[in-house]
Formats: sequence, C-alpha cells, structure tokens
Amino acid sequence: MNNHKINRLALVGIGLIGSSIAKAVRGHQLADHIAISTRSPTTLARAEQLELGDSYHADANNAVKDADLVIISVPLGAYATVAAHIKSSLKAGAIVTDVASCKQSVIIDMAPHIPDGVHFVPGHPIAGTEHSGPDAGFAELFEGRWCVLTPPDGTAPQAIETVSQLWQAMGSMVEIMEPAHHDQVLAITSHLPHLIAYSIVDTATNLEEDLKQEVIKFSASGFRDFTRIAASDPVMWRDVFLKNREAVLEILSQFSEDLTALQRAIRRGEGDKLQDVFTRTREIRRGVIDYHQE
Ligand code: NAP
Repeated sequence: MNNHKINRLALVGIGLIGSSIAKAVRGHQLADHIAISTRSPTTLARAEQLELGDSYHADANNAVKDADLVIISVPLGAYATVAAHIKSSLKAGAIVTDVASCKQSVIIDMAPHIPDGVHFVPGHPIAGTEHSGPDAGFAELFEGRWCVLTPPDGTAPQAIETVSQLWQAMGSMVEIMEPAHHDQVLAITSHLPHLIAYSIVDTATNLEEDLKQEVIKFSASGFRDFTRIAASDPVMWRDVFLKNREAVLEILSQFSEDLTALQRAIRRGEGDKLQDVFTRTREIRRGVIDYHQE
C-alpha cells in the first residue's frame, strides 16, 4: 500500500464504518491527510474530539476538494443526495467509493452524479457491529473480513486496484462481484438473519409482561444472540429492506416454505426429518469456522 499512499482521503459520514476507516488508515499510515465531513455539527465536533482526522468540514464539498480518494459512509437512503451535493467539487482522476450494504441501489443512486474523469468503485466491507456513531469505530473492524467491490464494466483497473489495496492494507480480503450477485448473497447471509432477529425480538416484546420478563431473564438459551442483532441501527436496516427489496423477498419466500416444512414435521412428530435438517445445518457452521468468519 505504501507505493500507493493516498495524499488526501476524504471521509463523508463518520459513524461506525467511517470512524473505523479513519482509525485503520491512521494506524497503518495509509494517507497523508484525512479530511472528515458529516451532516450534523455535533457528530463533526465529536469526530474532532476523538482526533479521527486532520481536518473537519461542515460542508462535504470542502472535504472532497483535492481528495484523491473519497469514501462515503452514510445510510443507504442518503447516498444519492450526498453524491449530488459533492459532484462539482471532485477533482479529475479522483476515486469515489462507498461502503453501502446493498450494491445495486447505491449504483443507481450514485453513478449518475459521478462526473466524467472521476472513477467510481462501489464497495462493501462485510464487517460491522450493532453500534453506530463515531464513538463505535475501531481500527481492527475490517481485519480478517471480506470486502466486496462491485465496479461497473469499464472501470479503470488502476482505480479498482487502489481501493482494493486500501482494504487489504486495513486487513481485509477483497472479492470482486456483480452487484446483483452481491445483493443476493447478502440477502441470505445478512439481511434475512437481521429480519428474523427483529421479528423474534418483536414477538417477545408483544408478550404479556410476566412472560416477557422471563424471556429476558433466561435469554442465554438462544434469545440473547437475537437481541444483539435486533439492536442494530433502525435507520440503516429500514433502508436495507427498502433498497434490497427484490432479493430479500425472494429469499424470504424460500425461507417461509422451509419454515412451514419444519412446522409440519413438528406437528406430525417427524423426528427423522427434523434431525436430518439439523445435521445438515451443522455442516454449514463447520464451513463458517473453516473460513474463520465465526
Ligand atoms: P452510522 O454509524 O449510523 O453513521 C452514519 C453516518 O452518516 C454519520 O456520519 C451520520 O451523520 C451520517 N448520516 C446519517 N444520515 C444522513 C443523511 N440523511 N445524510 C447525510 N449523512 C447522514 O452508520 P454506519 O453503521 O457507519 O453505516 C454507514 C454505511 O455503512 C451504511 O451505508 C451501511 O449500509 C454500511 N455498512 C454498515 C455496517 C454495519 O454493521 N453498521 C456494515 C457494513 C456496511 P450525522 O451523525 O452527522 O447525522
């Protein structure tokens, strides 16, 4: 990465992901200057208190001006507005990337605002926690995690390489994918599990008070892990389901059928069927551990 040290990196959005990038870039000395911008004065002041960057800008245009690389890390619903706002301040040859959890929608939202002569390399670090805001970031967030890049056809290879090297320098493994394929994969690995967690915890929320207290008290028996996932940022996840609607609905209908099959097996007392399914799923867990993604 040192061959490709970035002169000026602009971070637009400085929540969990933006602040983790700031810390990782600073820790690995990947940029000479980190310019930070975010929507609210409170968050900007907090980023400055935390010394996440070298300069702080209320207007994103001042952060991206002269930047070689711009990383936008805002909720999915905000990429179009941010891209439209900064487009005239991007310098020729600059690279713009993002970290959005859905790739087709972000390309639709951002690509029309990327000027000629500026490179656009959409990306998604598959790493996160249920926390948000600039205090939540940590430099190691991306270590050992995948980052998927979904560059449109014709993207300059050097721009892809620069973004790829940055993620690798922050400890990630990089994979290039078609945006639609990314959205399909993430619908099953991330979006559906979050929906299920939100749904189970909501079911508990609607229980009578006595029972609800017991669910919380005895939560170690499975429920606890769902509560962690269901504590994820409500705005981010609202946007994920609105933006990756088709892929989520498709996997959700498959899931509903499989759940109905399990329901039927329980009702009919078909222990063999249940055991078959639970044996198959163990294999997946072993695979996850083999890939060090546990
Ligand atoms: P976050 O901690 O909530 O931070 C969001 C940032 O975006 C803040 O700087 C916030 O600024 C700004 N922002 C919020 N609403 C905005 C708006 N309407 N217009 C402009 N800026 C706005 O979020 P995050 O977890 O870092 O997520 C950012 C992106 O990363 C999302 O696209 C998400 O899909 C992706 N991602 C998240 C995870 C995860 O686990 N969280 C993992 C991988 C990728 P102010 O505070 O100044 O308002």
